[in-house]
Amino acid sequence: MERHRVKPGTNVSLASWDPADTSGFDGDKKAAEKVFTGLNERLETLQELLYADQRHKVLIVLQGMDTSGKDGTIRNIFDGTNPIGVKVASFKRPTSTELAHDYLWRVHAQTPGSGEVVIFNRSHYEDVLVVRVDGLAPEARWKKRFEHINAFEKMLVDEGTTVLKFFLHISKDEQKERLQERLDDPSKNWKFDPNDLKVREKWDAYQRAYEDVLSQTSTEAAPWYIVPANKKWYRNLVITEVLVATLEGLGLRFPAAPDLANIKVV
Ligand code: AMP
Ligand code: MG
Repeated sequence: MERHRVKPGTNVSLASWDPADTSGFDGDKKAAEKVFTGLNERLETLQELLYADQRHKVLIVLQGMDTSGKDGTIRNIFDGTNPIGVKVASFKRPTSTELAHDYLWRVHAQTPGSGEVVIFNRSHYEDVLVVRVDGLAPEARWKKRFEHINAFEKMLVDEGTTVLKFFLHISKDEQKERLQERLDDPSKNWKFDPNDLKVREKWDAYQRAYEDVLSQTSTEAAPWYIVPANKKWYRNLVITEVLVATLEGLGLRFPAAPDLANIKVV
């Protein structure tokens, strides 16, 4: 999965990252799903262990254009995990109270505590994406945010949080199909947001903004992965593999049991 990680200092040009890539599986969905099922079970075990262990915190950031699969990723990957230790924080347009504070205020409040996994469905990166593209803050202000964000994430890591960031990379054509599906399929109508069409018109500006995010904020401490997301099964597999490998690397263990020899249940 190393090939999908953005090495710090890389100048990312999204045109050279194929959103339809299914490397190693050559479009073999069945084979990939088999691997996914095994890894997904392993993830469930590791999440229980993370919760029992209480020494680590895990923050997962999901970003991507509309329809890129942020919601689907959460549903598919975390469906079997224990809700006691897994939380989702979705970041929408800031409320007036949130806007009255600095942009990291609402974000910091949602970061994981000991033993927890928190999934950010959108994140502080919106403050250098939509804010930039729509001119919601002057350039002189949002430009400085890359530095704040790197420092903020470094602080979280230094204090015991593992930070993983996934950019769900889809093509403009794939987005067209998915938006059309939301219009055509009555069970998906509720997901259709007319505003998505306005955002789609600014596709190129968003790609440029994402390129800056990926180039400037992928660090050793808090790396970005560019996940080819045209194929949902490959997207699920890549993210699950990274999560399992990362959790395996934490050396999780159950806390030492107390001395039980003389305890009697009466
Ligand atoms: P959704 O994720 O589809 O429910 O949409 C949430 C919307 O909130 C998206 O259009 C985001 O761009 C927008 N949003 C999230 N964070 C911010 C922010 N910090 N400033 C402005 N808009 C935001
Ligand atoms: Mg939406």
